[in-house]
Amino acid sequence: MLTDLRSLNLKNRKVLVRCDFNVPLENGAIADASRIDASLQTIRYILEQGGAAILCSHLGRPKERDVKYSLKPVASYLSDKLGMKVALAPDCIGDITGRLVSALAAGHALLLENLRFHPEEETNDADFAHELARGKEVYVNDAFGSAHRAHASTVGVTRYLTERAPGFLMMREIEALSALTTNPEHPYIAILGGAKVSDKIGVIRNLMTRVDVFLIGGAMAYTFLRAMGEATGKSRVEEDKIGLAVELLQAARARNVSFELPSDHVVAAEPSADAAVEVVTRIPEDKMGLDIGPQTIQRFISHIALAKTAVWNGPLGLFEIPAFAHGTMAIGQALAGSAAKSVLGGGDTAAAVAGQPWASRFWHISTGGGASLEFLEGIELPGIKALEK
Ligand code: AMP
Repeated sequence: MLTDLRSLNLKNRKVLVRCDFNVPLENGAIADASRIDASLQTIRYILEQGGAAILCSHLGRPKERDVKYSLKPVASYLSDKLGMKVALAPDCIGDITGRLVSALAAGHALLLENLRFHPEEETNDADFAHELARGKEVYVNDAFGSAHRAHASTVGVTRYLTERAPGFLMMREIEALSALTTNPEHPYIAILGGAKVSDKIGVIRNLMTRVDVFLIGGAMAYTFLRAMGEATGKSRVEEDKIGLAVELLQAARARNVSFELPSDHVVAAEPSADAAVEVVTRIPEDKMGLDIGPQTIQRFISHIALAKTAVWNGPLGLFEIPAFAHGTMAIGQALAGSAAKSVLGGGDTAAAVAGQPWASRFWHISTGGGASLEFLEGIELPGIKALEK
């Protein structure tokens, strides 16, 4: 059982809030602040209730202290958004930070420096977790994107902070994704794309027992087409996964799950913006498939039109190059506009549709790529389990 954040007494209490401020930076500036925006509701609530919010997050993958990965730009962004000064502590643990935490007044927020400046964060070191908990009384985890990792700030710390609850963003993610794992309405379709079959094996296996239709695009489709004996030219094929692809195709047939693969392709000699592009039904030897073709788009859209539940993970082509983004955009737009309960998961997929006028019409856009896939695989996420009583 998870505790409702609204049932906790936060007044005059020090609240450690694990956020997901792992935002993309360009030349030291925040390139996309949507992850920070997604946590504001929880932070504002804690402040309004008279709590003192001590915010923590990781940013990037530093192995030690590295100014490039400082959360400084996040502190300024938060100060702006919250309309109050949010100071950045020099570290996430230690005496100076400890003094800043104890001096923090009710209704105010302090941001701790990048958790990953300490390797002990990722090894879930007990002493580090204890230090992180020191001086705090309540723990709130709003970092769904990190919930599949058992780190000190997502799991270890809960040993020392027994009053704990998911934040509102975490709760929304759990509720939305649970709608897909518990009694989803049928027809239920899964649209999967992206680079590799190997990343999606678990989710395909698990969804096999739940969905009625798979719509497969992206580079991973070519491993399946090869498994069916079709020509794939120079397309990205995972040679060592062809056997597995055969197995998955057989499993789908045995369960009467329809496994839809592309029947036409946008191909080019190389994955570049100035390559000559053509649409083919059979991929020539010297070309590679870089997007699903118009006939495939129509077929996929006709499945989407009937769906009551849909999950989408992974772009259907090399969307970073506009000439190969059409399939991803057409499918995204159809899904967002459909009557289905549509859930979009995965950083790449969300990045592909970000900024499109129809993107807000998805039923739910998950903030966690790996975390949402593991949730849909039926794996218990350590960061959620640790919040339970
Ligand atoms: P993933 O991280 O597995 O979701 O993969 C996303 C990446 O797969 C994106 O960078 C896409 O450009 C890439 N991708 C999708 N379709 C293709 C394709 N047909 N050929 C090469 N790369 C692709």
